[in-house]
Amino acid sequence: MQFETKLLSSSDADIKEAAEIILKGGIVGMPTETVYGLAADAENADAVAEIFRAKGRPQDNPLIVHIGDIADFEKYAKNVPDMAYKLAEKFCPGPLTMVLPKRDRIPDVTSAGLDTVGIRMPSHKAALALIRTSGKAVAAPSANLSGSPSPTTADHVMNDMRGRIPAIIDGGSCPVGVESTVISFEGNAVRILRPGFISAEELSEFAEVIIDRHITEAAECGERVLSPGMKYKHYSPKANVTIIEGSGTDYINFVNSQGGEGVYAMPFDCDEKFCKIPCIPYGDSSEEQAARLFAALRKFDELGAKQVYARCPSKEGVGLAVYNRLLRAAGFEIKVI
Ligand code: AMP
Ligand code: MG
Repeated sequence: MQFETKLLSSSDADIKEAAEIILKGGIVGMPTETVYGLAADAENADAVAEIFRAKGRPQDNPLIVHIGDIADFEKYAKNVPDMAYKLAEKFCPGPLTMVLPKRDRIPDVTSAGLDTVGIRMPSHKAALALIRTSGKAVAAPSANLSGSPSPTTADHVMNDMRGRIPAIIDGGSCPVGVESTVISFEGNAVRILRPGFISAEELSEFAEVIIDRHITEAAECGERVLSPGMKYKHYSPKANVTIIEGSGTDYINFVNSQGGEGVYAMPFDCDEKFCKIPCIPYGDSSEEQAARLFAALRKFDELGAKQVYARCPSKEGVGLAVYNRLLRAAGFEIKVI
């Protein structure tokens, strides 16, 4: 179906209009603290099927269910371990998704046929208002066309989804900038399936933490991965992206020896003044890099970049999430210098 995608604000009246779209089985572009999502009633199989169509998302890639109250974990999941409540007390609302055994009210299309469901309670005011006003938990994957960088502004969503969905709520830039940390439970341990703003270091204050190897390693062809999204090339601009791993000086020397049409650097802010080729810096701290990474990757498309040399981020704390997204954008192409 073709829509005249309407831009809404987060005023009460506009949230009410967006909630009515959700109640009628439609899709709304929704700001969250991580990235923008495409929200639809998580229990309405037809509405959720529309999300897959709008994004061009593979059917075997499950959606995260967003709730408006911690008590709702029980409504959509069963056998919720005590550890989940401990973590919820500390990190919810916020960018932490917990994978739990699903209740039957979650249709198969939402969980991509798995018997588990990823649930999180976002902290963004507009997201909470939409969920609470509609009275519905919403399934909401990132609001990009499948494969492209996730959207961190309403403009990014409009670029990808114009004509495909009826409305987008403009909530400004997403403060976190990378998707939520996804975890599952294994006895007393938690396994990080996708790194995000809630870091392994923070989680390790509550539980033993296992970092799934597919966070930093490509899956073999046909290999089963615990987090289906991890097997796809993702977050990628049209340009070829190469991660350059080495010291700051080595990075500068490397990019300054490159050149030609469409060749760009993606350095840290502190490198910018030394770069002799065109560049888009993406921050110095891991938090800044998380917030600016996807916007930078989208900018390279606007500039018609053909090759991007990205300086390898730190792999500590939030840096692991930045590294994981960049690895996928680069199709795991790393040059160690
Ligand atoms: P996105 O909606 O684009 O943020 O992607 C959500 C990601 O969360 C998926 O690609 C999966 O990797 C992960 N995920 C969601 N639900 C589950 C689940 N039930 N089991 C494992 N991983 C999940
Ligand atoms: Mg996504």
